[in-house]
Amino acid sequence: MMVDNKPSLVGLSLSELKEKMGEIGVPEKMRNMRAKQLWRWIYHYGIKDFDVITDMAKDLRAKLKENFTLERCEVVERLVSKDGTRKWLIRPERGIEVEIVYIPDVARSGALCISSQVGCTLNCSFCHTGTQVLVRNLTAQEIVMQLMVARDDLGEWPTPFENRQITNIVFMGMGEPLYNFDNVETAIEILSDGEGIAIGRRRITVSTSGIVPEMNRLGQIGVMLAVSLHACNDKLRDVLVPINKKYPLEELFAAIRAYPDLSNSNRVTFEYVMLKDVNDSIDDAKDLLKLIKGIPSKVNLIPFNPWPGSDYVCSDRAKVKAFSEFLFANGYSAPIRRTRGQDILAACGQLRSESVKKRASERKTD
Ligand code: SAH
Ligand code: SF4
Repeated sequence: MMVDNKPSLVGLSLSELKEKMGEIGVPEKMRNMRAKQLWRWIYHYGIKDFDVITDMAKDLRAKLKENFTLERCEVVERLVSKDGTRKWLIRPERGIEVEIVYIPDVARSGALCISSQVGCTLNCSFCHTGTQVLVRNLTAQEIVMQLMVARDDLGEWPTPFENRQITNIVFMGMGEPLYNFDNVETAIEILSDGEGIAIGRRRITVSTSGIVPEMNRLGQIGVMLAVSLHACNDKLRDVLVPINKKYPLEELFAAIRAYPDLSNSNRVTFEYVMLKDVNDSIDDAKDLLKLIKGIPSKVNLIPFNPWPGSDYVCSDRAKVKAFSEFLFANGYSAPIRRTRGQDILAACGQLRSESVKKRASERKTD
């Protein structure tokens, strides 16, 4: 990320910071130490100005200032919902926009929902992101930047040890994280480092539509797994989550069962969108139980959020409730995800829809 032709150091990994130190003439044997100092200032203190760095000589600070910035991405829009949900639209570069959503008080905690790609190459039939044309991977820096912008706005610097607002991170925004694995992995390394942002890997959840060959690698990183299931037989899942044709349920579930360290305190989350007369019957719930039997897991029932042009309707409230109660009665936690931030279009599957529309209409009046 460049401002006035100067790259920002915010969002860089330790090895990138070391490289940058080399670029401004820091002797090789000092680079690691300097990079670590910067790390602490950037990710623990959240500084925006090199002048506050008290443990570096003036001339080094001057050099840093001359060559780099501590800028964040441009925040194009900031919205706060009646229910406390916040949403930011950031613009890492012209034409590339990403939404970040903060959802307060989820079980004594707050989750930040971030994106791994702009758009998505998969075309789940009920998801608005999948219809977006523009697709590119976000860099690790752009992924970390989402947290930085949210922490800035929540005033959450230096990294607090107690009473945090952002306690968890979920990769549940736009994109398929496992199709941008390297950058997601680097971002997780930065986000989870105890000397900086310090959000532990058990508090980071990566949601995937089921990219089977990458799931083991995800497990090695030690983050929590969420799987967008949505259907319990291949015929229906082929339609709802078309990547199922490539990685059908049997393979998907073999990979889930092999995910490391699953236990009752370390459960897989199954996301299940409730679509009227499509996947919401008690028979569907029975099939779901059969599939997940023996896997330490919970099911997140997501009422479908409609978007302009979508073919589906959300299940009736009573149906969703019955589905949830059936799973609970059979020993699985299956909360209905409260729709949050609807007034600011921050709910699942709504990301970007309004901003795309708005920008299109703006273009018309140009
Ligand atoms: N691409 C990843 C990460 C997105 S997570 C994945 O699919 O897992 C966002 C969750 O919201 C996914 O489970 C997704 O299937 C679900 N979702 C998408 N569109 C939705 C909509 N319109 N209503 C409700 N949930 C939706
Ligand atoms: Fe992509 Fe996930 Fe949407 Fe499917 S549900 S199109 S994988 S963002």
